[in-house]
Amino acid sequence: MNAVPEPAVPTPEVADPIAGLDDSGAPLSPETVAIQAGRARNGTALAPTIVPTSTFVTPTVADGRRMATSTTADVFYSRYGNPTVSDFADAVAELEGAEAARAFSSGMGAITAVVLGLCSTGDHIVTQRQLYGGTQLLFQGMCPRLGIDVSFVDGTDPDEWEAAVRPGTTMLLFAETPANPRLDLVDLDHLGQIPGPMKVVDSTFGTPLGQRPLDYGIDLSLHSATKAIGGHNDVSLGVVSGSRELLDWIWGFAVLQGANASPYDAAGGLRGLRTLGVRLRHQTEVALRLARVLESDPRIAEVRHPGLESHPQHDLARRQMRLTGGLLTFDLVGGLEAGRRFVESTRICRLATSLGGPETLVTHPASTTHVGLLPEELEAAGIGAGTIRLSAGLEDPDDVVADVLAALDASDSPS
Ligand code: PLP
Repeated sequence: MNAVPEPAVPTPEVADPIAGLDDSGAPLSPETVAIQAGRARNGTALAPTIVPTSTFVTPTVADGRRMATSTTADVFYSRYGNPTVSDFADAVAELEGAEAARAFSSGMGAITAVVLGLCSTGDHIVTQRQLYGGTQLLFQGMCPRLGIDVSFVDGTDPDEWEAAVRPGTTMLLFAETPANPRLDLVDLDHLGQIPGPMKVVDSTFGTPLGQRPLDYGIDLSLHSATKAIGGHNDVSLGVVSGSRELLDWIWGFAVLQGANASPYDAAGGLRGLRTLGVRLRHQTEVALRLARVLESDPRIAEVRHPGLESHPQHDLARRQMRLTGGLLTFDLVGGLEAGRRFVESTRICRLATSLGGPETLVTHPASTTHVGLLPEELEAAGIGAGTIRLSAGLEDPDDVVADVLAALDASDSPS
C-alpha cells in the first residue's frame, strides 16, 4: 500500500471566511482564531481556566433578580450559565461567524433544546431522511407525541425541502450535512434562501473549520462537540450558534431542560478547538487516502467521501466545504457477515461508536448508531447490511491503511 500516492486535499472553491481580525484590523484565518478565541474570562492564564462551582454568591437581591431572568448570566447558578462554559461557547460563536452561542451537555441536548425550545404543538418541521439515529428518533417518536408534525425529505434534493414547507405552519427546517453515516450533503445556499421557517443545520461532521452554515443564511448551526471539536473522546458536549435573539428563545427551554455543559467538559472543548485545525487537515488526508485505496478494491461495492470525485455531490462539497473531514463510509460486497467480520478483525481501528478523535474508529451503523430504525428506514437512509463508517484518527496513515486491508482479507475468508 506504500505505492499509493498520498493524495493532496482537493482545493475547495469556497473562499476562506475571515473568522477574525487581529489588533491592527488584519484578517485572521479560522485556524488562528481557533487558537485565540474564548479567552475573555481567562485573565492571564494561557490554558482554559475551570470554574467548577455550581453556584455563585449573589451580591444583592436586585442582582439576583436580574441574573435569574438574564439569558446571558453566567455567575448566578451553573445550570443557567458558567464562565468556563461561556468561554467555550464564545469561541465556537466566533468561529461560526455568529452573534452568540450556547453550550449543552451533549449534541442531543443541543438538538432537543433547539427543536423543543422553538416548536410547540401544532407546528410543522421539515427534516431529511438521512440523519443521525438519535435525531431521527426525536423527530419520529418524541415530536409526534407532543403534537409536532414532521415531514421527511431527501436532503440531497433542494426542491423537496421547498415543496414540503407549509406556509404559516412550518416552523423549522432541520438539516444535517454531511449526514451520518453516508456523508450525503445538503445544499446550504439553497436551504438558506427558503423563505419562512427557521433553518437549522447539524454541522457536526463539517466542524466549524470545515464549513460555516451561517454564511449561507442558515439561522442556527449546531454541533455534537463530543466529536471533532472535543477531539479526544473525553468530553460530552453540544453547542448551538446563531443570533442572540434565537438563543434567547432557546434559553427559556434550556434552563428547565437542564442539559447544561459541565465546566470541565467545556474546558476540554476549548482545548480541542486549539488543535482542531491540524487534526482536521490530517484526518481529511487520511480519509481521502484510504477512500482511494478502497475505491479500487473489488471487495468494496461503494466508497463515500465528499472529497472523492466519485461522490455524487463532490462539486457541492467544493463549493461549501473548506475541508471534507475524516469520515468515510464504504459498503462491503459480502454484506452483514463480512461487515461483522471486518469490524471484529481490525487491530488498530477500534470498534466504537463515535468519531473525530485521535483513534481511528469503525462502526457498523445497522447494528449500532441506527439500530432503532426499521428496515425500510435503513434503506431510505442508504444504510446497508455491509455498510461500515470509519472515522480517521491520528495514527500513522500507513498503519491504518494496512490494518483496514488486513481486516478486509479476514472478512473475505470464511471463518
Ligand atoms: N449529531 C450527529 C451528526 C451525530 O453523529 C451525533 C452522535 O453521534 C449527535 C448529533 C449526538 O451527539 P451526542 O452524542 O454528543 O449527543
